[in-house]
Amino acid sequence: MSTELSHDQFMRYSRHLLMDDIGEAGQQKLSQARVLIVGLGGLGCPVALYLAAAGVGQLSLCDPDHVELSNLQRQILYTDTDCGEHKVKCAERELSALNPHISISSYSSEISEELIDNQDIVVDCTDNLAARQLINSRCHNNKIGFVSASALGWEGQLMAFDFPAHSTLCLNCIIDKNSPEPMQNCSNSGVVGPVLGAMGSLQATTVIRMLLGYFQQHGEMQRYDGKAGRWLALAAKAKSDCLVCGEAG
Ligand SMILES: [Zn+2]
Repeated sequence: MSTELSHDQFMRYSRHLLMDDIGEAGQQKLSQARVLIVGLGGLGCPVALYLAAAGVGQLSLCDPDHVELSNLQRQILYTDTDCGEHKVKCAERELSALNPHISISSYSSEISEELIDNQDIVVDCTDNLAARQLINSRCHNNKIGFVSASALGWEGQLMAFDFPAHSTLCLNCIIDKNSPEPMQNCSNSGVVGPVLGAMGSLQATTVIRMLLGYFQQHGEMQRYDGKAGRWLALAAKAKSDCLVCGEAG
């Protein structure tokens, strides 16, 4: 891989290059990064758009679903004519058009442990606990950064883990593996589109922070209440009996 930015890249990333704490060295870090986005729905669309635009060099996209009309209220990568197509194929097409300098791999399948390996960061944009737990365990065991978010109604939540640097405190410490799937989800209870946009943008920002070495708060949690217009930052605590990261793990 070339270590010098081309003229096109210099112009494209000029707003990063102007910043002392990103600059050319930071842009190179982004261009060498491998990030997997699991779920290309309301969270995954803004995450993918921002990371592709930022020049994250190797993006992998994983989602088994097809675009449906009811997705278009919030899943901003897709248009009316995409209905019926695989989400990852539509996303790959749009993201390649946005930034032809990056490499994009797409998988129209459920998440597997093999897909997680060899990534620098995995971004969880799924809507189910089983996938979230699988990603958490694999990222913990393989020391891969993990940025997870969810949203419902007017509210969103983000949790981020710097597993390359810390081995205790994981998502399972906060949401136990054996808890049942929540009864409410976006499909049966609804969600405000831009709340997903806010959380997805926060996930993309967190990924960029991690890649550039500015992420310091392993187990950081943030909650957003879109109706009240309030953010809340919380610090999670490790559980010594956690089945993933605890002594029993
Ligand atoms: Zn844990």
